[in-house]
Amino acid sequence: MTNKLKYFIGNWKMFGDFNSFKIIDKINRYTSKHKRSKKSKVVLCVPNILIDFFRKKLKHRSVSIGAQNCHHEQGYGPFTGAVSAGMLKKMGAEYIILGHSENRAEGENSSLIKKKVESALNQKLNVIFCIGEKYQDKKKGKTFSVIKRQIKESIEKKFNKNKIIFAYEPVWSIGTNKVPNINELRAVIKFIKNDLKKSFKTKKTPTVLYGGSVNQKNVKSLSLVGEIDGFLIGGASQSAKKFIDIIKNYYK
Ligand code: PEP
Repeated sequence: MTNKLKYFIGNWKMFGDFNSFKIIDKINRYTSKHKRSKKSKVVLCVPNILIDFFRKKLKHRSVSIGAQNCHHEQGYGPFTGAVSAGMLKKMGAEYIILGHSENRAEGENSSLIKKKVESALNQKLNVIFCIGEKYQDKKKGKTFSVIKRQIKESIEKKFNKNKIIFAYEPVWSIGTNKVPNINELRAVIKFIKNDLKKSFKTKKTPTVLYGGSVNQKNVKSLSLVGEIDGFLIGGASQSAKKFIDIIKNYYK
């Protein structure tokens, strides 16, 4: 991986209740206790109902807390069941996952995701923006064009790129135990970084993570892709042991 800050971001999805505090507590104790040999950052994106509870209960917090989605409108409004970026920020979220393929599959399109990104950035949340191709796209050789389009359609030039972390998550690898081959993965991450630099005319290298079936067994080989700046971890972040096994090479 690069020498930049390494991110290990957990996505709990629809998992957890008040008893799950013990999971985040163990992870937080681990990251607090172990001197960082390298610069790493752990974030856990949890269900909204747990954000405030975890934030208040965690002692000496070295783990940051994030959310997993928001409504696109700012502030308050007549949107039954919805939660805005501002409300999440007030609860203590510092990060937010947007554009996740599970939400795209539920009907979120690029223009809606763009509004959500804008709303989250206005609230000074760090956005974890997910992109990635479906298996059919990959088979047809469309990986690069799909990713390019997803970025172009949801990320405006005026957005503060310093507050956006890009997460490459091939849809076919999420929750399937399948990961891309190392050479293909390297090529995609390089492509995303070059595309972002070109599109936004910036010399600063963007932060790009990989997500999809990352576990304690494959993290070492995935880390061989030097261009990756960290990982977005779903299922394995719901267990303190599995998550700590993934991060431990970076916390010695
Ligand atoms: C995810 O949902 O963002 C994810 C990476 O899931 P998993 O690690 O379970 O494949």
